[in-house]
Amino acid sequence: MDNRINILTVGSINMDLVTRTSRVPKAGESVIADSYCYIPGGKGANQCVASARLGASAVFAGRVGSDASGGLLKDNLVKEGICVDFLETDGIYATGMANILVEDNGQNRILVIPGANMHIAEHDLERAFDRPYNAVIVQFEIPADIVAETVRLANLHDIPVIVDAGPAMDFPLERLGHIAVLSPNETEAEALTGLAADEGNCEAISLALKKRCRADIIVLKRGADGAYAYQNGTGKFYPAYSVKALDTTAAGDAFTAALAVEYASGRDIGEAIMFANAAGALAVTKLGAQVSMPRRGEVEAFLLIREDK
Ligand code: ADP
Repeated sequence: MDNRINILTVGSINMDLVTRTSRVPKAGESVIADSYCYIPGGKGANQCVASARLGASAVFAGRVGSDASGGLLKDNLVKEGICVDFLETDGIYATGMANILVEDNGQNRILVIPGANMHIAEHDLERAFDRPYNAVIVQFEIPADIVAETVRLANLHDIPVIVDAGPAMDFPLERLGHIAVLSPNETEAEALTGLAADEGNCEAISLALKKRCRADIIVLKRGADGAYAYQNGTGKFYPAYSVKALDTTAAGDAFTAALAVEYASGRDIGEAIMFANAAGALAVTKLGAQVSMPRRGEVEAFLLIREDK
C-alpha cells in the first residue's frame, strides 16, 4: 500500500527560454547571441517537483497551452512521477514562458508571459479536490481568485494550506480563508507589509501579516540567514546550514515544498523548518531551478553529516 504523504500543488508552470549573450541589443539593433536553452520552471511546478523528490505522492493542478512547450512540461512532470490529471490544456492561451536574457557579466533581464497560467478555471480545481490530500501548496503566479478558491476548497475538505507568498507583490491576503502557513521570502515580506525584512523586524512583519490574513504560522525565508517562525505569539530563528552557494534560484521553492511535506507528515513546525533549511541549502549548491530540487535521500544524508558536527 502507498503510505506516502499526498500533496496537491496548485500553481504556475512555465517554459524558461534562457538566452546567453555578450550583451543585450539596443532598440532596433540585432545582436548575435551565444546560446539558448529551454528549462522547465514556474514556481508551482518547481514546488510540485520538489515535493515529489522529497517523497510525497504529488499532484499538480494548473494550465498549459496546446503547444509544444505545454507537451514538454507535462512530460517532464510525468517523468518526476507527478500526477497530471488536473493539468489542463488551454485552447486559446499559450503556455507560460519566462524569457531570460543573461549577459556575460551575469546580469539578468526577464520577461514573464503568464499565458495559460492566468486562465486556470475554478471548476478544474473542484475536480482536483475530489481526491484526499494531507496538504495543499499554492503561490501567487496565478489569478488571486484561483488562490482564494484553492484555500476555500482546502478548508472545505479540512486540508492544511501552505501559501508561498511569491512572487513579490501586494497580494490581497484579506481574501484568503484560513491558512496553516504563510511563507514569504524577504522581498515578498517587504512587498506585503512595507517593512524591511531585517532580523529586528521579523516579529513586526509577522504581526503585520497576521493582521492581514488568517494564518496560524508565519514562516519567513531569510536566504543565507535561514528562517524565522512566528506562532501563538512567539517567534523563533532557525539558522541556515552553511554551504557554498552556487545559484540561489528556486531555493525558496525547495524550502516551501520541504516544509509542506514535513508539516503534512505531522512534524512540528520547528522540525519541518530545519528540514526545509537543509533542502533550501542543498538547492543553492546546484545550478538551475527544477533540476536543483533535492531528493529526500540527499536531504537526510546532509542532515546526518551536519548533525554529527
Ligand atoms: P527565495 O529563493 O524565495 O528568494 P530564500 O533566498 O530566502 O528564498 O531561500 C529559501 C531558503 O533556502 C532559506 O530560508 C534557507 O533555508 C535556504 N537558503 C537560501 N540561500 C541560502 C544560502 N546562501 N545558504 C544556505 N541556505 C540558503
